[in-house]
Amino acid sequence: MTTILAIHAHPDDVETLGAGTLALLAAKGHRIVIATLTAGDCGSAEAGPDETAAIRRAEAARAAAMIGADYACVGLPDLGVFNDDPSRRKVTEAVRAARPDIVITSAPADYHPDHEATSILVRDACFAASAPNYRTGPAAPLDAIPLLYFMDPIGGRDREGRPVPPEFGVDVGAVFETKRAMLAAHESQAGWLLKQHGITDYVGSMVGWTRRRGKDLGVTYAEGFRQYRHTPYPKDPVLQGLVGEALIAVG
Ligand SMILES: [Zn+2]
Repeated sequence: MTTILAIHAHPDDVETLGAGTLALLAAKGHRIVIATLTAGDCGSAEAGPDETAAIRRAEAARAAAMIGADYACVGLPDLGVFNDDPSRRKVTEAVRAARPDIVITSAPADYHPDHEATSILVRDACFAASAPNYRTGPAAPLDAIPLLYFMDPIGGRDREGRPVPPEFGVDVGAVFETKRAMLAAHESQAGWLLKQHGITDYVGSMVGWTRRRGKDLGVTYAEGFRQYRHTPYPKDPVLQGLVGEALIAVG
């Protein structure tokens, strides 16, 4: 059994960009932990930050439970994710607590500052997690740096609108209804995304995006990933192997 930690900035990001792949891995018997750096406390125009965070933590936990996954929240504030020393220690503690073999996180270039800071924090936390003298809390250091992967950015583009092509895809057609249900568990976001983003159907946006990535890769629904291979991170294509026949090679 392999442990996979999917860690992104906000509740609903993992469900939008990687829940299909996680559902496939969970069905194969692997242990899944979903974590967010914030509790999504700015995601409401009606409720205050504490009430919003409580609602959104509960929604994220419900979504994770649909595939038997645990949910954890690092507890940083929305629009307050920065690559600084206290934040890196908190993220490293979360990585250590999950004991992952594989970490999947936000793309380095994405539309939201929290997403980009999350990518850097998680990348560096994976490095720090196996350094015994880097002190973070009660969780023990990892034995080794985990494998690291990036999800697609939202919309598959960087801030300049340039496409960010995936290195490989995962065909999530067989588990697409599970992915849809996991995102729909974030029901408080329907009103917020309409107000702040002009999105009238946030689940429909995810359906459209997953279908678009599928079209790019020759299937109905797909999610894209890139592996981080800089030294001294491990480079073995383990996630690619775990998804088995759902793997879609690119190029
Ligand atoms: Zn987000």
